[in-house]
Amino acid sequence: MTRYAAPLADMRFVLFDLLDVEKQYARLPGGEAATRDTLDAIFDEAAKFSEQVLAPLNASGDEEGCTLDKATGNVTTPKGFKEAYKQYVDGGWSSLNAPEAYGGQHLPESIGAPIKEMLDSANLSWGNFPLLSHGASEALRLHGEEWQRVAFLKPIVEGRWTGTMCLTEPHCGSDLGLLRTRAEPNPAGTYRISGTKIFITAGEHDLTENIVHLVLARLPDAPAGVKGISLFIVPKFKVDRDGRMGARNAVACGAIEHKMGIKASVTCVMNFDAAEGYLIGAPNKGLNAMFTMMNTARLAVGIQGLGLIERAYQISLAYARERLQGRSLSGPKFPDKPADPLVVHADIRRMLLTQKAFAEGTRALSYYAASLVDLVERSPDEAERKRADELLSFLIPIVKALLTEAANECAYHAVQIHGGHGYIRETGIEQFARDARITTIYEGTTGIQALDLLGRKILATQGVGLRHFLEEIGAFCKAQAGNAALAEFIGPLAKAAQEWGDLTLALGKRAMANADEVGAAAVDYLFYSGYVALAYFWTRSVAAAEASKQSADFKAAKRHTARFYFARILPRTLTHKAAVEAGSDSLLAMPDALFG
Ligand SMILES: Cc1cc2nc3c(=O)[nH]c(=O)nc-3n(C[C@H](O)[C@H](O)[C@H](O)COP(=O)(O)OP(=O)(O)OC[C@H]3O[C@@H](n4cnc5c(N)ncnc54)[C@H](O)[C@@H]3O)c2cc1C
Repeated sequence: MTRYAAPLADMRFVLFDLLDVEKQYARLPGGEAATRDTLDAIFDEAAKFSEQVLAPLNASGDEEGCTLDKATGNVTTPKGFKEAYKQYVDGGWSSLNAPEAYGGQHLPESIGAPIKEMLDSANLSWGNFPLLSHGASEALRLHGEEWQRVAFLKPIVEGRWTGTMCLTEPHCGSDLGLLRTRAEPNPAGTYRISGTKIFITAGEHDLTENIVHLVLARLPDAPAGVKGISLFIVPKFKVDRDGRMGARNAVACGAIEHKMGIKASVTCVMNFDAAEGYLIGAPNKGLNAMFTMMNTARLAVGIQGLGLIERAYQISLAYARERLQGRSLSGPKFPDKPADPLVVHADIRRMLLTQKAFAEGTRALSYYAASLVDLVERSPDEAERKRADELLSFLIPIVKALLTEAANECAYHAVQIHGGHGYIRETGIEQFARDARITTIYEGTTGIQALDLLGRKILATQGVGLRHFLEEIGAFCKAQAGNAALAEFIGPLAKAAQEWGDLTLALGKRAMANADEVGAAAVDYLFYSGYVALAYFWTRSVAAAEASKQSADFKAAKRHTARFYFARILPRTLTHKAAVEAGSDSLLAMPDALFG
């Protein structure tokens, strides 16, 4: 079994030195309670829970998986999961950010980012059970009627019930316009929901007494496509307007999937057979409400990527220091030992530094995105809320796709660093590579995130979010222009930011003439954007470290890793830029028949 140690020092560095969240919390409603002492205590407890309760269940959960009793439709989670969930609820973790009126503690949303990272590093499968509750809470809070908030939001906040997100159907995945699940009105104002949803995370389990499904369905006579989709609450046990739980509803788990990874996270086929449901939000506007959930969930899945990157790094570093193989090319570094440890070899260091640069860089990027959620939700200044919202919308597809793709790369490196010992099951390394694989698929694939970034967030808004971000980078470069400690990074960062704007403008022009250019460029454009964004956060990391009271070693490690990032990862933008500029012909000109 591999050990996990929460990287509290770097988490605190990002939150307090780099982002200075204390200052932001102090001026936001609900933030007053988030003092440094309180936060330190919260993070220490989350670390303990993740290291001591969740991490030890990771390998056993993978071995055991979830089981469905076909006769009853009940799902049993792996040994220890239920007890861990009870500890999670008793610890107050489910209620951190929710409004006090619904039983929450109303702490700023960004506090959840490091906590989520720890849960996901320790046990990604377990982390999926509370994950969707958060998205469901947000949809209920923002779009639900008051009785729905009291009846459904409160028990979710209290951790007594969990939530799900039911979008996918057998024939309908990325293209939600195809969905067929029907909702027919009852005289009492409720609805009868009928249809089959597949791949539903935590659709059935034994952790809580009730499960609240948020289901996309079509009303009779709804317009075709995405404009005719409504959102419904369908609880496993019916609930009246006073919040009293009643009889079993006609929704049941028909099967559970056998998967490549996250085996302890249950993925269900859910059959709705005229199940009682309650409309949430306006008819045919379900996708708007669902987008609230999807945004929260996309940021959360990005953070799953971060959790896996960190874990891959920790496992790899420990092994590279311990395993003795070969000698350094420039002569033995540990002559007293029969061979040098792997960590002396340049190729191993390439993989370790890639993991470290991604872990710390994406931590800064994703916590920054989470701090924008605080502003969107709580800033009393309308202009600040609007800017934060535009910036966040722009960053979410980058965070989701870049962090999860990097997680796959880093898990791959973890296997490689362990050699054959990484490939066999006994050591537990391959589990991380299998678990990471889903993160680039669910909550919208990398391809779909890239289309969202380029189509909806850049072209449809004249790049408003990108403009805010480039302004921020420009202001930072200007402010640091005379800082000799940053000189080696500021020049390349300013150049990359300038080029990002130029590349976007040129691509926008080509897209106006030929829409296929968008699809052909999107994924490369997303990676290009992500790598420049990380260059900004690496430069900020060096600046924040230099200005902080961190140790000399901490500062030196940041500088070395930033140098590695600029020398060996940022140049990946050259390939992505060339691919964006190559246009769509090389992809689309060949007739389908010639594929063979
Ligand atoms: C373990 C697991 C858990 C899940 N949990 C949930 C859940 O809780 N709730 C839920 O509703 N769903 C869930 N899903 C479903 C998941 O969100 C979908 O699998 C995902 O959105 C992709 O849809 P699809 O599988 O139908 O693939 P498709 O949509 O068929 O896509 C196949 C490929 O085509 C690409 N593609 C599709 N459309 C386009 C396009 N227009 N342009 C370019 N490329 C395109 C995609 O990027 C992908 O590479 C889960 C899936 C899994 C495996």
